[in-house]
Amino acid sequence: MTEHSAASTPLQTSEGHKKSVAALKQRHRDTLIRAIANVLSSEIAAFTYAQIVDGLPLKDTALDVYRGCVCPRHPLLDEHDQLCPGVLEHTRALCRNFDVGALEFDVMWLMLIFSNKLIHDYQSASPASSAFNTRLIELVTRAVHHVAVWLYKQDTNRHKKDALGVWRPQKEHVRHFPPTFPSTLFCHEWYRDYDQYPEGMADCVGYWAEARIFGGVVLFDRRDRESAPDADERVDPEESLADTGIYRDLWERRVRPLSEGDARVTGEVDTFNYNSFEDWVDANKRGREARQKQREREREGVE
Ligand SMILES: [Zn+2]
Repeated sequence: MTEHSAASTPLQTSEGHKKSVAALKQRHRDTLIRAIANVLSSEIAAFTYAQIVDGLPLKDTALDVYRGCVCPRHPLLDEHDQLCPGVLEHTRALCRNFDVGALEFDVMWLMLIFSNKLIHDYQSASPASSAFNTRLIELVTRAVHHVAVWLYKQDTNRHKKDALGVWRPQKEHVRHFPPTFPSTLFCHEWYRDYDQYPEGMADCVGYWAEARIFGGVVLFDRRDRESAPDADERVDPEESLADTGIYRDLWERRVRPLSEGDARVTGEVDTFNYNSFEDWVDANKRGREARQKQREREREGVE
């Protein structure tokens, strides 16, 4: 894994990519740059990126997860309620690489993280059309994710050698920590398959950052138009991405093993995460069937 490989400058790019950007029509290019700049200049983006540069989440961020806390009993919950001195300035300096208002900003770096197909699809869509807006959202999301990846790879962690950084949980509590710990606590509960990510653990940090900034990881409906059902139909995150057709990249999430449970089959009626009681009943049934199938597969795999 290359989680701390020396990061290249974000301004490096290739000839092929330069061509695809150069080919972007003015309006498409301007809209893209403005959209990325708007998100990057938001307070939540600055605060999120600063924590990556700091190296540890702040107490309130660590507690702001769906299930309790990302690091129970960690001393940061008492001691890390503010960014370390100088971190904000350091983050600002690093983020000048992404400052679209600055002369040195070069949109080319963005092209490193966009496939030619995505650029082509964006370019082919008429401004303000649904296809245009969807591709624009995907481009912005990938840019926001990539800034987090790049910042993490700068290896600025202020806590590497101090008491907060070297603290470890007792054996029986380790399972409550994300699988990326102790390398990083910046990990979204559902996006932690770093062994299959192109940027390894840095991609976990990227998913965490986009969830903080956008309120969730941004996925897309990749199904054919004919097979796409109603907008209010629930798609269970527990199902495989290949089956649901809802994802950004197919490698982003594996199906969870049986040992990790399934929120659909806990037996407790849940009308908070489901649209209605009927919705929960249906999901519960799907969950039980999926687990039965998985159990059979796992059994076959063992034998
Ligand atoms: Zn700190």
